Amino acid sequence: MKCPNCGSENIEQGISTVSEAGFVIYRTGLEYNTRFSSKVSKTYSDLCLDCGEIVRTYIKGKTDRNWCKDEK
Ligand SMILES: [Zn+2]
Repeated sequence: MKCPNCGSENIEQGISTVSEAGFVIYRTGLEYNTRFSSKVSKTYSDLCLDCGEIVRTYIKGKTDRNWCKDEK
């Protein structure tokens, strides 16, 4: 894989994506509905170590979920 910004192949893969609120750190991800509740499929990112570009963000596992969207 190459960085689209600088062309480097120095990519660190599979880094956890989180949110920080005060001293608390949450794993973040994509929300989906199950029959009883909503759940989150955790996201991971690949980072270019030369320029800091986040090359891609993705989930691991199933993609055929009932994904939550804000309807407008
Ligand atoms: Zn780069």
